[in-house]
Amino acid sequence: MNKKISILGAGFCGLAVAWYVKKSAPHLEVTLIDPNGIGNGASGVSAGLLHTFGGMRAKLSRFGREAYREATELLNVAGKDTYQKTGIHRKALSNDQMEEFKKSAKLHDDVHLMEDGIFIESGIVVNTKQYLQNLWRACEAIGVTFTYENTPADYVIYATGASSTKLLPDLPLKLIKGQTLTLKWPEGLAPLKVPLNSKAYLICHGETATLGATFEREFESYEPDIEYAVNYLMPYLEKMYPALMDAEVISCQAGIRVAAPDHLPLVKRLAHGHFVITGMGSKGLLYHAYFAKALCRDILAEQ
Ligand SMILES: Cc1cc2nc3c(=O)[nH]c(=O)nc-3n(C[C@H](O)[C@H](O)[C@H](O)COP(=O)(O)OP(=O)(O)OC[C@H]3O[C@@H](n4cnc5c(N)ncnc54)[C@H](O)[C@@H]3O)c2cc1C
Repeated sequence: MNKKISILGAGFCGLAVAWYVKKSAPHLEVTLIDPNGIGNGASGVSAGLLHTFGGMRAKLSRFGREAYREATELLNVAGKDTYQKTGIHRKALSNDQMEEFKKSAKLHDDVHLMEDGIFIESGIVVNTKQYLQNLWRACEAIGVTFTYENTPADYVIYATGASSTKLLPDLPLKLIKGQTLTLKWPEGLAPLKVPLNSKAYLICHGETATLGATFEREFESYEPDIEYAVNYLMPYLEKMYPALMDAEVISCQAGIRVAAPDHLPLVKRLAHGHFVITGMGSKGLLYHAYFAKALCRDILAEQ
């Protein structure tokens, strides 16, 4: 009989693992399981920024180049219309940061110095909801199945995002709440073609814009708190793009990031037939494909 693989969690990580496992071993019965449906965890509220030069110093992320390559390949599996390579404009917040940005621009061909920061030419904006749906369709087309309830299996992969802290309490994971605001783009104000990213970020989608994100190490609820998000994010908007200060706030979204030690994903075998992939922090889009592919090799090696 064919072996059964259950993947718990249908966010970026679960979908990517399902894709690589089924693609590499079509004989395996691969089932995605999520009580909340496809892409309704942190992945569903991700702002969609994908680049390899994060942090105050805009240093190349570890595994940045390889991860970017795998992520863009998987984006193309979901369809070229799920993302746009707009580039990303990172504004420096201080002279010290500008000096760091200059070093980054000297080292990397896709980082260009600007008067007030850097332009990351390779930066991408992903339409995350469409990406998640399309990636699921691609998985389904090669034979992956989906259920809302857990079913017995020979192999279990935990891609359970924030719930991993409860399901696997021994793992060294921390939870960080993030909230974004959706703003109405004012009529008469020219759309912003390139996303801005300093301490906060601003992405224009035409008639609306995403302003994000809060970084809350302490929180009581997983739910959106619009008052908190407005108080946290508006001062950053004022510095970054004051023309939008009077824009109407349409809604607030919240999600929970999972952070692992060393700011790197936590991807490993737990016991025979049990594996985990989590700890993507703020870089789920950059890292999900690369680490899911690596985990797929480990899973198949155990067959
Ligand atoms: C506000 C915000 C903005 C962000 N913006 C960006 C961005 O611009 N770029 C970027 O790269 N990253 C961004 N991130 C980070 C990114 O969203 C995460 O790194 C990524 O979504 C993590 O993916 P995941 O698959 O590990 O987890 P999730 O997307 O949280 O998926 C976990 C899934 O597991 C399911 N689940 C839980 N328990 C069980 C169970 N027992 N059985 C089965 N399923 C279960 C949940 O329903 C959920 O669907 C942002 C995060 C937040 C909060």
